[in-house]
Amino acid sequence: MNQTLAALVLLLASAATAQTPAVPIAPVQPQTIRQIKPTLYVVEGAGGNSTVWVSDHGFILVDDKIAGAANFDNLVAAIRSVTPLPVRAVFNTHHHFDHVGNNAAFLAAGVPVIGTDALAAALAKTPGAAPPDLVFDHDFSIILDTGRADAHHYRPGHTGDDAIVYFPAVKAVAIGGLAVTGTPTFDYEGGADIGGWIATLDDVLNLDFDTAIPGRGPPMTKADIRAFRDRLATFRGRAQAAVRGGSTKATLMSAIRVDDLGWAWHGAWPAAQVAGLWTEAGGR
Ligand SMILES: [Zn+2]
Repeated sequence: MNQTLAALVLLLASAATAQTPAVPIAPVQPQTIRQIKPTLYVVEGAGGNSTVWVSDHGFILVDDKIAGAANFDNLVAAIRSVTPLPVRAVFNTHHHFDHVGNNAAFLAAGVPVIGTDALAAALAKTPGAAPPDLVFDHDFSIILDTGRADAHHYRPGHTGDDAIVYFPAVKAVAIGGLAVTGTPTFDYEGGADIGGWIATLDDVLNLDFDTAIPGRGPPMTKADIRAFRDRLATFRGRAQAAVRGGSTKATLMSAIRVDDLGWAWHGAWPAAQVAGLWTEAGGR
């Protein structure tokens, strides 16, 4: 299914619905906006990265940080320092709280918020969270004067509801939780699947881009994404070998080498994460 701007325009004409206010859950952190390309910016701090792509008559925002009025105001102020144009739409890359915290504030301002139907279902079950008001299953495009924003959900990866947003005019992709410079997390309780993640990155790598903005950390190159994909594949192969070799849930993490991948486990993994990996690796 591919929904277009027509649906968006219809929706903009309807009244904005009141949403449950999001609950501030973290101390206010500063935000910094950084120019990546002439019309592409990233806002860092107060949660995950937010990507801003500016077209002639408005901008598209990807991800809206940890909930809270101050975080919302600081995000808007950071963007206002580079453009006076209005926001046309907000995309959510996945349901984690540091990426979707201020959906309610954008919805209250009449701004469409877009995410996968699986993401909407996840947020509907999360107290204080505001689901997107426009949902899609696989593809959703917005066409503006100077280019387009193409959202794609390929399959489960970092979570079960990941979407990437591709901006072909600037050869950039907001890749959400699907790539990270350091150690990745696998949210099995939230639908993660490393096999799906690897296949998703293969699809992303078929897009024509040179810059990827991850959910956390500095911008990455296409080569960085390919290398990260390969590390995931190595890790998944080692997990499968460990399970074949008799690893139990209790011994699995210590049986998988990760230091040569540049990863480090920060303390113990949550039991659900270990169980998910063990099952994906063939454990039963
Ligand atoms: Zn995440």
